[in-house]
This record gives sequence, C-alpha cells and structure tokens, in this order.
Amino acid sequence: MCAKLLEGKPIAEKIKEAIRQDIQTLGKKPVLASIMVGDNAGAQSYVKSQQKTAEGLGIEYQLHKLESSITEASLIEFIQKLNQNKSVNGIIVQMPLPAQIDYKKISAFIAAEKDIEGMNPANMGKIVFGSAKILPCTPAAVMELLKETGVDLYGKEVVVVGHSEIVGKPLALLLLDKFATVTVCHIGTSKAGKLEEHVKKAEVLIVAVGKAGLIKGEWVKDGAIVIDVGINRVADKIVGDVEFEAAEKRAAWITPVPGGVGPLTVTMLMCNLVEAAKLQ
Ligand code: NAP
Repeated sequence: MCAKLLEGKPIAEKIKEAIRQDIQTLGKKPVLASIMVGDNAGAQSYVKSQQKTAEGLGIEYQLHKLESSITEASLIEFIQKLNQNKSVNGIIVQMPLPAQIDYKKISAFIAAEKDIEGMNPANMGKIVFGSAKILPCTPAAVMELLKETGVDLYGKEVVVVGHSEIVGKPLALLLLDKFATVTVCHIGTSKAGKLEEHVKKAEVLIVAVGKAGLIKGEWVKDGAIVIDVGINRVADKIVGDVEFEAAEKRAAWITPVPGGVGPLTVTMLMCNLVEAAKLQ
C-alpha cells in the first residue's frame, strides 16, 4: 500500500473561501489583535504567516509589540483594554513568552468571546460539553484533515500520542464526541515501554510530541490514517514525529511534514476570528 497524501493547503483554500463569504455576510472587516512580547524569531515567523493569511482574507491584523521586560500585571492590563475595545474581535498572545509570564494565567484573562486560540478555560470547558464554538486551532485542523478522508470515526481505534493542553487533550475530547475509541499515549506510556503496542492498534494515529522518528514506520497498522502534528528541525530539514517513508508504505492516508497540519492551523485561527465576530 502507498498512502494518499493528506495535504493541508487544498483544505485550507476551501475553508478560506467560506471565511470570505462569512466576512461578506458580516459586512465589516474583522479585527485581530496580536500581542508579541519581546522579539523571538519563532514568534516573528508565526506573526508573518498570520498577517499574510489575515490580509489575504480581508481581516485587519493589528500587531502590538511589547517589551520583553513587561510584568504579568501590565500584560493583563493591556489584554483587558483589548477586551473592552469594541472594534477588536479577536486576541492572540504569541508564544513563546518570557519566563516571568505564565501563559495559562494570561489565557484566562482573554475574554472568552475574543479568545480565538480557544485556550481560555471557559472555551476549553465547553469542549467537554460538546458546545464549543471556538476550538483550539491545531485540534480543529486535525479534525478537518480527518473529515477530508471521508472515514467515519464512529467506533474506530484512535490513538493520540502527546497530551499537551494545546493539542492532545482537547483533541482527545473532540474525537470522543465522534464516538471514536480514544487512547491517549504520553511520556508515561513510553517509559512503560507500551508505546509500540498502542500505536500498532491504531486505525487512526495522531502524533503531537516534537521528537523526530519517535514513531517507527513499521509500527503503523496497514490501512491506518496517520496525522503527524510534530515539527522538528533535523539537519536543516523540517520533519515530523513519524518515520514518513516507512509509514507511507503501510498507511492509507498520511500527512506530509511540512504541508499537512501546519497550513490549516493558521486558517483555523481565522475561522475562529470570524466565529468570534459573529458571536459579538
Ligand atoms: P508539548 O507541549 O511539548 O507536548 C508534547 C507531548 O508529548 C507531551 O504531552 C509530552 O508528555 C509528550 N511526550 C514527550 N516525549 C514523549 C515520548 N517519548 N513518548 C510519548 N509522549 C511523549 O508540545 P505541543 O505544543 O503539544 O506540540 C507537539 C509538537 O507538535 C511539536 O513538535 C510542535 O512543534 C508541533 N505543533 C505543530 C503545530 C502545527 O500547526 N503543525 C501546532 C502545534 C504544535 P509530557 O508532557 O508528560 O512529557
């Protein structure tokens, strides 16, 4: 078997078309306020990509650059001003943040109806009840990729590797909502020597760890769907967490890295912005 490539770009283009129509219906340009603390190269590259996507969709992207020495209290005050500003529809705080700032604490101060990353505890909580209108961007991107395969998740053995708050945990809940049988693996699974055993059972395998080659190609079940969220730089190349060449020979569908989840994540952020503008 040679897997079909599950590429993010064509799906992102379809979603962007729907976003453009939604913006027309809204009748005004949505405004995204992006806060960048300090001058990290990674954050700069996210900002560039977000700005380009936003502008291509007719979204106003306001970048607020704050000093890396800013205190947590001053950042919260800044966010609260944006919360009160009626012209701002969505707020995003770029990562990474300097050591004195606790992202979890900060995310609770972004008004739930402007929290376009879906990281406010109120929005996270709604995922448990299946009533979330704004979903964390990467899990939402993974769900769009799975939708594209046309495979019904009902009763499927789905294995998620990685249990971070931003990807693995919310994704597991979204998959449960589709009645998949979800197994979440993490560092404890690996340390217990049980990762291979779980991965081998996966009809759908989603990996979000950040360790190149963690998932051996030979572990992939024949005919599986493989979504590789991982991004790793190895010898000047970007690779995922799954051994792509070997996995591709066994899977039915596989995401390339780069080009799979990545192009969709930014698009889901813009989707959330338009949803937020509709809710306000
Ligand atoms: P993270 O917060 O570092 O979480 C990594 C997860 O992997 C944790 O749950 C960790 O468990 C687990 N883990 C670590 N070593 C493991 C092992 N040997 N076996 C099994 N599980 C292990 O990272 P993240 O933010 O979720 O991101 C994960 C990866 O996805 C990164 O490469 C990141 O760059 C990428 N990413 C890509 C996109 C995109 O748009 N394509 C978006 C977000 C993230 P413990 O915490 O218990 O150690």
